[in-house]
Amino acid sequence: MPALGIAAEPCGGVRHEADIVVIGGGAAGAGAMRTLADAGRDVLLLEAGDRLGGRAHTVHVAGLPLDLGAGWLHSAPKNPWVAIAEARGFTVDRSRPRWGEQWRALGFSPEEQNAAWSAFAAFMEAMRTPPSSDRATDLIPVDSEWSPYLDALSGFINGVPMREMSVTDWLAYDEASVNTDWRVAEGYGALVASHAAGLPIALATPVTGIDGSGKQLRIETPRGAIGANAAIVTVSTNVLASGAIRLPGHDAILHAASELPLGLADKLFFTLDDGEEIDANAHLLGNPRSATTGTYTLRAFGRPVVECMLGGEGARALEREGLDGAAAFALGELCGLLGSNWRRKLRFVAGSAWGRADHILGGYSHALPGKADARHVLSTPIDPRIRFAGEACSHGEFSTVHGAYNTGVAAAQALLG
Ligand SMILES: Cc1cc2nc3c(=O)[nH]c(=O)nc-3n(C[C@H](O)[C@H](O)[C@H](O)COP(=O)(O)OP(=O)(O)OC[C@H]3O[C@@H](n4cnc5c(N)ncnc54)[C@H](O)[C@@H]3O)c2cc1C
Repeated sequence: MPALGIAAEPCGGVRHEADIVVIGGGAAGAGAMRTLADAGRDVLLLEAGDRLGGRAHTVHVAGLPLDLGAGWLHSAPKNPWVAIAEARGFTVDRSRPRWGEQWRALGFSPEEQNAAWSAFAAFMEAMRTPPSSDRATDLIPVDSEWSPYLDALSGFINGVPMREMSVTDWLAYDEASVNTDWRVAEGYGALVASHAAGLPIALATPVTGIDGSGKQLRIETPRGAIGANAAIVTVSTNVLASGAIRLPGHDAILHAASELPLGLADKLFFTLDDGEEIDANAHLLGNPRSATTGTYTLRAFGRPVVECMLGGEGARALEREGLDGAAAFALGELCGLLGSNWRRKLRFVAGSAWGRADHILGGYSHALPGKADARHVLSTPIDPRIRFAGEACSHGEFSTVHGAYNTGVAAAQALLG
């Protein structure tokens, strides 16, 4: 893969002028940059961190590419990253996910699986008529024995338990999504980072303010100010709402961001000694009766690795406990199902805590009950020179990499138009 392009930095600093500045080097920023550069515009990407990709982040451990953030090409038939991956020489793995299966029905009998899936199907059907509260919990029968299970699923899907989730927002996601999910063998994060490679980029350059009072925008950073005719801001809603970037005249945007907070989702990875009897991508839910349980992919891609994902309440617990405590919890769930001899076969090698990640501050956005319209406010510019993009600006494809990319491309096209 080509090395990442770093902007020429005269006088040891960042360039002081660009036609268009893109703020944030995740999927939205990469999409915006590539669109603008392909149209021949003078662009500069400012990224606060020391790498590209944002919440798409591939690390290499024990020779394995592991995605600490996004891993699935959701809605694959309409996901633009599929074509980008193939054009860039990445391998698209079309094996279907096995989230709906429990390997050997361990700890989750076929009857229980049917009952739990029926409870989820009934909830999805009920979503078509949102309650006046717009709160997802209000669609679940009060005496449902599957409430913890539904909270766990909401945690994986939305990053929050049902009580914090807007039904209108979830319905918009459901209607926009296609139920086909693929993966990138070399890592989704590596793919996203490669898409901006070779373009003018300044890493470790956090934007601290955008002053739109003059003819040109003044983009402030600790490395100096940059004059620009336009900017595309792609930082997460939690970063926007934190006030890390001063944006005079944009209170409505910052307020909308606070109504679309990031939930939590986190990953833990274990290498696996032997275990060849397990099918590639076999799946286990740790405990179908717990809202904090993990979902486990065994021998992901057929590799000697177990991938655990925690969402919502489970990810909150992980981030409270720290990675070692979280790994012990996951090992406990796995060994409870597979047998205690698995403790010797599994070695914790990597994990994420996205809520604590500087310049990100969480997993993915959801609308608070009654606040789904905030996505419209966030994506409607107040000053036509300052556009907002990023997963939370998507009306139906939020919380995804392709949704983020599409908003970045759309913001770039709006400026080009
Ligand atoms: C554990 C987990 C699993 C996930 N799984 C999937 C999945 O399987 N499939 C899927 O499609 N999606 C998944 N997602 C969601 C997906 O990762 C995100 O929706 C998407 O990557 C967001 O891209 P973005 O460009 O909007 O924002 P980001 O990726 O957050 O990019 C914003 C960038 O802005 C930078 N930044 C912040 N502040 C500043 C500043 N002041 N100045 C300059 N730069 C700044 C940040 O460092 C960051 O690089 C997952 C997320 C997590 C956390």
